Amino acid sequence: MQHFVYQNAPMRVVFGTGTLRQLPDELSHLGVTRALVLATPRQKDLIADISEMIGERFAGVFTGAAMHTPVEVTERAMGIVNDVRADGLVAIGGGSTTGLGKAIALRTDLPQIVLPTSYAGSEMTPVVGQTSGGIKTTQSSPKILPETVIYDVDLTMTMPPGLSATSGINAIAHAVEALYARDRNPLISLMAQEAIRTLAHALPAICAQPNDKAARADALYGAWLSGICLGAVGMSLHHKLCHTLGGSFNLPHAETHTVILPHALAYNAPAAPEAMARIAAALGAPDPALGLHDLARKLAVPLSLREIGMPESGIDQAADLAVKNPYWNPRPIEREAIRNLIARAWRGDAPETTRAIV
Ligand code: NAD
Repeated sequence: MQHFVYQNAPMRVVFGTGTLRQLPDELSHLGVTRALVLATPRQKDLIADISEMIGERFAGVFTGAAMHTPVEVTERAMGIVNDVRADGLVAIGGGSTTGLGKAIALRTDLPQIVLPTSYAGSEMTPVVGQTSGGIKTTQSSPKILPETVIYDVDLTMTMPPGLSATSGINAIAHAVEALYARDRNPLISLMAQEAIRTLAHALPAICAQPNDKAARADALYGAWLSGICLGAVGMSLHHKLCHTLGGSFNLPHAETHTVILPHALAYNAPAAPEAMARIAAALGAPDPALGLHDLARKLAVPLSLREIGMPESGIDQAADLAVKNPYWNPRPIEREAIRNLIARAWRGDAPETTRAIV
């Protein structure tokens, strides 16, 4: 067995169906008496129930959360935090809303309760990526890690099949990279394999029948495990590429992960045979990269960067950026091979699979 270090994240998780009803108790648990509730404009209808449920402890609401946590949005929200003298935050939504709560917590150290409605996994990490002047900068701090996460399967039932599929593959990506992380450990690897298995089985069922509660519960469970993986060990090529592409061409987050994952995995496959064996077992597919490509095809999600808005002229720029800042990856980063990977992903080709380096 390899040498490893494992550290548990100090947070509380409530998981189930109908668990939103536990919000008042969880506020008491944290001693919050004036909660500011955060959401996106699209999910503002969720606020009425929360306001009724927490009564006098509802201090105010901000429904301007946006993708990539723009600093100007956080500053507007900070104005409300101060006006209503909030002593706690309730973030209900996907990664964008969670990101806003984290950005406020970074500035105030207010306790956070997150109610995730997608599979992005941000609620499990002490990291926030904030955008200012078109540049996204990532920061990590113990203040950013939410104190409590309430997973309620009911909150995910409204997720449209397309978002469920891409958000679910976004979660699979965290687990895939955890399996070949330099700082991986046996416990996180168990979670990662189980996350991939659970999500790969649940997502097709959800796309066929979006109100399948059992499949929704499995997917949320898998997303939780994937989020733990993301928060616990380092990510490599796949996450770096998605960060670069998303930031440079303003591409949608979950869709970018969905397109890139099979290609990034094919790139790393020769240098990570143990991880590949675990991913193959979890997917029930002999070639993990092709297995993920097939899963995406079955889910009828975008398969190319072209479809999600990247210009062809960006391929070289993206390749240059991807090799610019050195970072650890199981296989060395070679510009021409990376350019080839991005070009294939842009066209929507199947991933290029190669044999293991032994
Ligand atoms: P999102 O939060 O932007 O959600 C996309 C849209 O779907 C939003 O309009 C949202 O309101 C809506 N939505 C979410 N759940 C829904 C539901 N159940 N029903 C109906 N509509 C719903 O997208 P996302 O993919 O969840 O999160 C992406 C963001 O999270 C990115 O900014 C990304 O960088 C960040 N993120 C950060 C981390 C981290 O650890 N810091 C991890 C993962 C993602």
